[in-house]
Amino acid sequence: MTEYTIQAAYLAASILFILGLKSLTRPDSARRGMQQAAVGMLLAIVGTLLHHQIVRYDWIIGGLVVGTVIGVPLGFMVPMTAMPQRIAISHMFGALAATLVGVIEYREAAGAIDTARMGALGFEVLFGALTVTGSFMAFGKLQELVPGRPVTYPGQNAVNIALFVSTIGMLVYVVLHPLAAGVFYTMIGFAFLIGMFMVLPIGGADMPVVISLLNSYAGLASSATGFAIGNNVLIIAGALDGASGFVLSVLMSKAMNRSFGNVLFGAFGGAPAAAGTKTTEGLAVRPISADDAALQLAYAKLVIVVPGYGMAVAQAQHQVRELATLIEKHGGEVKYAIHPVAGRMPGHMNVLLAEADVPYDRLYDMDEINEEFERADVALVIGANDVVNPAARTDKGSPIYGMPILNVDKAHSIIVLKRSMNPGFAGIENELFYDPKTAMLFGDAKTSLTRLVAAVKNL
Ligand code: NDP
Repeated sequence: MTEYTIQAAYLAASILFILGLKSLTRPDSARRGMQQAAVGMLLAIVGTLLHHQIVRYDWIIGGLVVGTVIGVPLGFMVPMTAMPQRIAISHMFGALAATLVGVIEYREAAGAIDTARMGALGFEVLFGALTVTGSFMAFGKLQELVPGRPVTYPGQNAVNIALFVSTIGMLVYVVLHPLAAGVFYTMIGFAFLIGMFMVLPIGGADMPVVISLLNSYAGLASSATGFAIGNNVLIIAGALDGASGFVLSVLMSKAMNRSFGNVLFGAFGGAPAAAGTKTTEGLAVRPISADDAALQLAYAKLVIVVPGYGMAVAQAQHQVRELATLIEKHGGEVKYAIHPVAGRMPGHMNVLLAEADVPYDRLYDMDEINEEFERADVALVIGANDVVNPAARTDKGSPIYGMPILNVDKAHSIIVLKRSMNPGFAGIENELFYDPKTAMLFGDAKTSLTRLVAAVKNL
């Protein structure tokens, strides 16, 4: 009877995980998706706690208390802008758990283990261990505890490949000779090194792609754990995690017009001042006052809002919606152009704008909106930089050359909200800011938008 209850809980959990992923594909149902996944996880935990193999609960309850004490403040206190490193550290713990379970299973089996189970176990500890150090390095780079620039040295790829091939060799050996404990533990040690060496040559700008890939490794490790210990919900959840993490990494690379191999081995995105071939020396910018910008916005027929990382930093999404409502009251139309890698994680802008109740049908993907910039009276750029940089189209020497961008420069006029002339994440100059059609409203985006709202109200 208990076994039926456990499997029913696992089945319900798996269905909720799948529904959760489905709901996460739309900003307006994303919150529900998170709730579905959370209830699914609760059912999976309850199902596991009913397991007859559990003989004492004290350590488990202690673990649940410690996990809750760490998890709840993390959820409330970590800002959205620090989400990538927060996810990296969660992966590290998940992968560490998978590795430790693998080691315990191996010790308990004491060599009496069949080839299939040893294969699953070996796979679990290998991917688990490399995800632990890889995620920790990614966290360190994003949190600036280690240098964000790519760390490279001659023959690096050869060293990494040799390390990887020898580790795979050890995996094959222990699968065939499960009693070879020395090889098993050396393999884990090598896997820790692979995780570290794999992330070292990758620049900070590519870390979100790496984290998503490590997410997929952690998923594979969990799935292998499921096979090794005969746990269905781990197999399913791990496979979902592995597949979605991989698809997300590919989509992110595509949005930056980078091949997957180039992200992993190209040492991109590090040097903070990686200038292109074009320079903006001698060009002048045109500052604008909030009153003049408000006048332009209030009488525009079509305004396209382009949010970027700066909107997230300033938490200005509510002011954006307020301004849009006022423009609409004046008879203008407002659309939002969403670049797939605006901000610091996929869907970053969608989530923030949904939080401010911006209607979902006003949000347009890059491909849907790019042709419309030509008829926009004003493109209002709020803390976006790289995703509107025309150098991606025109400057072959630029590190972002080839990345698809929003065609903001085609609008009749452009108003940019940012604090200074500092570059964005790619660390490069943006000639859009020097375009004669562009006016710069300097200051924190939230403050500038509040001033704009007040100015439009006074018209
Ligand atoms: P950028 O990082 O290019 O630029 C953000 C701009 O916001 C800065 O120039 C900064 O200028 C401004 N800013 C910062 N804080 C504020 C504030 N409080 N008020 C007003 N402005 C502010 O952002 P984008 O969104 O245009 O581009 C995202 C970048 O991140 C791309 O390079 C992308 O490849 C990369 N990336 C994104 C991923 C994703 O999944 N979204 C994943 C991996 C990489 P100033 O300091 O002068 O204010």
